[in-house]
Amino acid sequence: MTGFVPHLQGELETGAEVVSLQPDAHLLTLADGRRYRYEHLISTMPLPALIAMMGDAAPDAVRAAARGLRHISVRCVNLGIGRPALTDKHWIYYPGDTLFHRIFVQGNASPQSNAPGGFALTCELTYSSYKPLPLKGQALIDRCISDCIRVGLFRADDEILTVNMVDMPYAYVLYDHARAGHVATVRQWLARYDTLLAGRYSEWEYYNSDHAFIAGKKAAEAVKALAPKIGLVR
Ligand SMILES: Cc1cc2nc3c(=O)[nH]c(=O)nc-3n(C[C@H](O)[C@H](O)[C@H](O)COP(=O)(O)OP(=O)(O)OC[C@H]3O[C@@H](n4cnc5c(N)ncnc54)[C@H](O)[C@@H]3O)c2cc1C
Repeated sequence: MTGFVPHLQGELETGAEVVSLQPDAHLLTLADGRRYRYEHLISTMPLPALIAMMGDAAPDAVRAAARGLRHISVRCVNLGIGRPALTDKHWIYYPGDTLFHRIFVQGNASPQSNAPGGFALTCELTYSSYKPLPLKGQALIDRCISDCIRVGLFRADDEILTVNMVDMPYAYVLYDHARAGHVATVRQWLARYDTLLAGRYSEWEYYNSDHAFIAGKKAAEAVKALAPKIGLVR
């Protein structure tokens, strides 16, 4: 994706968290207090979070639709093991009794994620309000390590070089019967305030990264068609 950065025109700011939005005034506020007025907004943030940020400005029906969107969360337990080339696979699904449902083999996706002489793995664990994680913190990590040993991915005498956890509160969109209607309700209302949705969590679709990229391109083209001379007004 970094290959596309030189093609961007205008200011690009990363690490800037939007904390509130006033759709009427076309005004957004960042966590550090700075405010931006916009002509068009393309949102990539999770749809329920976007509507929650608007507070009472969103009508009840829109807020109810956003609240009705269901999802699954993922906890990633990242392990750095002190032995290279543990497997030649890129990802492995575990439909059995391991706590993780999948291991993403980071070490084969990019050798740069491996320490010298080591190998990087991510254990992915799904959870939700009705299927919470059974363990927390170190106990969760220890269980992932023992499950990896049990399924033969590495051995008990292998050195664990590094461990960390990453939580993804929004990970998988859940396709229930109400999803399409809820998304349409929210999307149509947002369009009135010049706000477009782009991406997996914003459009609430099961996108992979290639779809997410195309979604961004389509959103940019749509805004360009609406307003040829766009720019942020600080
Ligand atoms: C566990 C898991 C495994 C996956 N495996 C694969 C795979 O193997 N192959 C594949 O192609 N895809 C995979 N995907 C899907 C892929 O990761 C997503 O489709 C893709 O990252 C979605 O891109 P996006 O830009 O729509 O959303 P994101 O990558 O989530 O980008 C949204 C952006 O919005 C920003 N944002 C959110 N809230 C705010 C805020 N308040 N203020 C400012 N910025 C904000 C975020 O920081 C983020 O940068 C996987 C997803 C998950 C969860």
